[in-house]
Formats: sequence, C-alpha cells, structure tokens
Amino acid sequence: MYSERPSPRKEYRQKESQRVNASATLAEQFRELTALTVDLTYFSRGSFTRNSEIKYTVNLAHAKSLFRFNCPNDQCVGGDFDLSAELAKAVGKHQTNLTGEVICQGWRSQTEIGQERCLNTLRFKLSAAYAQQEAPA
Ligand SMILES: [Zn+2]
Repeated sequence: MYSERPSPRKEYRQKESQRVNASATLAEQFRELTALTVDLTYFSRGSFTRNSEIKYTVNLAHAKSLFRFNCPNDQCVGGDFDLSAELAKAVGKHQTNLTGEVICQGWRSQTEIGQERCLNTLRFKLSAAYAQQEAPA
C-alpha cells in the first residue's frame, strides 16, 4: 500500500488525469481533423530563455480532446496548461495554424499556496489539417 500522504499537488493531478481520460479522443470529437502537430516551448517565469521545446505529431486516435499539458515546474500545484478551448475554436474555423501563449495559474509550490503563483509560460504552435470537401468539378 502507499504510505505517502496525499498532497494537494497529487490530488489535483489525479483529478485532472481522470477528467482527461473521461474525455473523448480527438478523432471522436473532431471528425474532420486529419492531422495535428504541436510545437510547445516552455519558459520559466521572468525568464526569456526557453526551458524546453517539444514538437510532435499528435496521435488523433489516442490523444484526448481535453487537451492539456503538464506544467514543467515539478512543484506546481493546481496549474498546468489547457489548450482545449483554443483547439476547439481553431478546428471549428478549420484554421490550419494557431499560435498563442498561456500562463500557468497554479501555485509555485505546496508551501506557497495562496501566496505565489507559478506563472510559467507555454508558447504553442498548432498545425492542423482537415478532410477536404469534394470540390465540384
Ligand atoms: Zn505551473
């Protein structure tokens, strides 16, 4: 059995992953979406040097429509980045490129809950492709 005390951080992550698992896959949610790549760059707060950059092609059959990414701050409580709304909006308009920035609104650490926000930044670039409507000849 687990002897570790539950922490606010762990509880939050657990709840969030349950929400993600319960959501539809991207393929189910957005039938016209045929390809999606994401380019994510993380910045620590107050810093202009990138922490890390990840670029990958999303597996639409497996990725969930609750489209969230963990905050790279391994002390962060209650934060992370949720791009679900941005993605849904872009797909609704069949937008092929979307860039933006979200700031983590979690707490910087468990001892700073209610005092210091995390404020890490995620810059994202999404590239999407859609099923073509048959063009009339
Ligand atoms: Zn954070």
